[in-house]
Amino acid sequence: MSTLKERIVEQLKKDGADIVRFGNADRFKDANVKILFPEAKTVICVAARQLRGTRRGIEEGTTYHHFTTVGLETLEETILPFALLRACNILEDAGFDALPQRRNQLVMAEKDSTNPEVSYKKIYRGKTAEHQLDFEQCAVDAGLGERGLHGSILTEEFGPFQRYAFVITNAEIEPDPVVEPKLCDKCGECVKACPGHAIAPDGTLNRWQCAAYYVGANASKNPFMPSYAFEHEPDREAIMKGEVQLDSKRARKIIDQVNFYPPIRHAYCSSICGKACDTACYIHLEKKGALKKKFVSQFRKRPEWKLSFDE
Ligand code: SF4
Ligand code: SF4
Repeated sequence: MSTLKERIVEQLKKDGADIVRFGNADRFKDANVKILFPEAKTVICVAARQLRGTRRGIEEGTTYHHFTTVGLETLEETILPFALLRACNILEDAGFDALPQRRNQLVMAEKDSTNPEVSYKKIYRGKTAEHQLDFEQCAVDAGLGERGLHGSILTEEFGPFQRYAFVITNAEIEPDPVVEPKLCDKCGECVKACPGHAIAPDGTLNRWQCAAYYVGANASKNPFMPSYAFEHEPDREAIMKGEVQLDSKRARKIIDQVNFYPPIRHAYCSSICGKACDTACYIHLEKKGALKKKFVSQFRKRPEWKLSFDE
């Protein structure tokens, strides 16, 4: 007879999870765990790999939508919620309560924050009644992986290439250990790779800067940018090179002009950078031989492409 933990892991893996970790709720630093469920005993972290193939088109400069659709939205909106629901059913069948917690890309705790993955106009900001887990902190506390310099969670299996969600439950389930950080060596590749210089050397992210360059404000990495882009901006060349630090007002103005790639008909913005920070990190970790999941060839197969400013 399998244990509750084994049954949950087995079901989650059948439903698309690649990594499942269990953490004792008391060890979670995020107060929201107990605000959301005061009787919580265990937090289950469910991670699904982001196929590295969904980045191939952006790596080669040939096709872009796979990253946003299959690599991001399908995982967040279909695979993970489905897997969470099925795991919660097992917990309910065993008599426990279970709260599925997936990211809500549209809710920001801070008044002037944003999320590059969705339109800034649709985001609800500063809604203190809408509690959302600190996903990165909870992933660390659940034992999924470690936090890299630029904030992404790194695992030995997939580096920064996974998306994850949680189940909070009052079932007491044997916890997994927290991961001892060893992958991030502070190489700075994530910082260098950002086409908008949105990450400071210490890893701090300018979220508005990220939002503008995530959707393609850098001309050298955006093959869809027409020659007239940003024509009324006095510092257009610096914008197109990612050299202007944008505040929220300026970023909004720039984002509104980055409309030359057909938007995907979903809730998520089309990503042109394809999270270049994560890609650079993955390339670095793969080169170092730090990842368990091996491929017959390395992800980066030729020198990184860049368009010249006049192209
Ligand atoms: S690219 Fe280097 S510094 Fe950045 S998170 Fe990865 S290992 Fe750490
Ligand atoms: S590489 Fe892309 S996702 Fe990463 S910080 Fe820069 S703009 Fe944002």
